[in-house]
Amino acid sequence: MKRERIKHVLSIVETGSSITVKGWVRTCRKVKDLIFIEINDGSDIESLQVVVEPKIEAYKQLAELTTGSSLSVTGTLVESPAAGQRVELNAEEAEIYGLTDASAYPLQKKRHSFEFLREIAHLRPRTNTFGAVFRVRNSLAHAVHSFFQQREFLYVNTPIITANDCEGAGELFHVTTLDPLKQNKDYGDDFFGKKASLTVSGQLEGELFATALDRIYTFGPTFRAENSNTSRHLAEFWMVEPEAAFNDINDNMDLAEDFLKHIILSVLDECPKDMDFFDKRIKPGLIKNLEKIVSSKFERMTYTEAVKTLIDSKEKFNFKVEWGCDLQSEHERFLVEKKIGSPVILTDYPRTLKPFYMYCNSDSKTVRGMDVLVPGVGEIIGGSEREYRLDLLLDRMKELNLNEEDYDWYIDTRRFGTVPHSGFGLGFERAVQFVTGMENIRDVIPFARTPKNLKF
Ligand code: ATP
Ligand code: MN
Repeated sequence: MKRERIKHVLSIVETGSSITVKGWVRTCRKVKDLIFIEINDGSDIESLQVVVEPKIEAYKQLAELTTGSSLSVTGTLVESPAAGQRVELNAEEAEIYGLTDASAYPLQKKRHSFEFLREIAHLRPRTNTFGAVFRVRNSLAHAVHSFFQQREFLYVNTPIITANDCEGAGELFHVTTLDPLKQNKDYGDDFFGKKASLTVSGQLEGELFATALDRIYTFGPTFRAENSNTSRHLAEFWMVEPEAAFNDINDNMDLAEDFLKHIILSVLDECPKDMDFFDKRIKPGLIKNLEKIVSSKFERMTYTEAVKTLIDSKEKFNFKVEWGCDLQSEHERFLVEKKIGSPVILTDYPRTLKPFYMYCNSDSKTVRGMDVLVPGVGEIIGGSEREYRLDLLLDRMKELNLNEEDYDWYIDTRRFGTVPHSGFGLGFERAVQFVTGMENIRDVIPFARTPKNLKF
């Protein structure tokens, strides 16, 4: 018989049909001579209750079932007399695939800490919370593609191994086949014959495609060897980076705002039960806040206005605020959580704080960078209008001591038919955090990579 996934079984309106489900046992208990099995197959946060009467052949076998065991059950779907569920399955036939040793199974009935679950990679996704996290993550990824595909952005795959450091920040993982323990080698002897690293951003390569194909986006893994053990940083994370020719900073802000609203709406629409779970168990008020964010316009503010607001607030900060300082997360969170209470887009940062490729304003002090800050997470998007004027770009590179030859291939975009263009990068895990309300970024990625932590 064709197998049905539990998600669909739970929504079947007409009872009485015969169906097969397969999955893992959440709980199994005996009440008098009836066996009640909660079975979950990962398709839904809700499990299906299976009722086993003594008259069926598999009764004795099923009485041995333990939490975590896997099986197939065929039976008749009936209306459930129990509260809290509409239907249940009256078992007729069953096959057990694998039993668990109940005393050794790490997932006991009590609630486990997320830290504990991170250590048991295989069973973590079998819990309610992580099942929900990864279904929502999937739905968000789908929404990322649907948003850009609807707007005719081309999905481009930029390289993971590169020879350039996009941010100029130098927090790179080197890629080498040389043995670090054997001395007297230089990069010329290495696999690529030069220094190579894992990409920190696909932007520069993305710009080459946007200045030919008009609108593109990348969605891939990104690596940063920053030694920051925070709840917002990973060494390996996924980034979504659209780049659009002929877009200025305002178009870029509009795009970022529409994009965030689209992905939130689609998850609320596609994963109502999982979102309900986060709203009840992880972050009360989550759905209401997301709905509010979707229906209101994001506040926009220049860096200079933000600095003034922070100084005028008379709030005590650990880091002093003055024009020219890099805003710390305490400043960003004050603005977005206390002062405004909804997402804020900050623009026009001091030139000295931003990378070489940002468009320089006529005051020659600020550049057209933009950060989107959201409550609970802080910076979720960083982007800019790009400097498309060749002479100004070269001046900026000189100022930052960047070697023009290394970037020749990039500078070509400004030599041959240069155009205004803009783009941004969304940290995908930060988006998952924002939408689910999960506190720690390690809990929204299947396998987290952080300093001194490389398991599985
Ligand atoms: P932050 O100031 O938070 O370290 P950043 O300014 O270095 O971020 P960008 O270079 O602007 O970040 O990267 C674009 C986006 O990528 C950020 O807005 C953020 O959402 C995400 N991001 C950056 N670094 C990390 C990281 N280490 N782990 C997860 N996401 C990150
Ligand atoms: Mn940034």
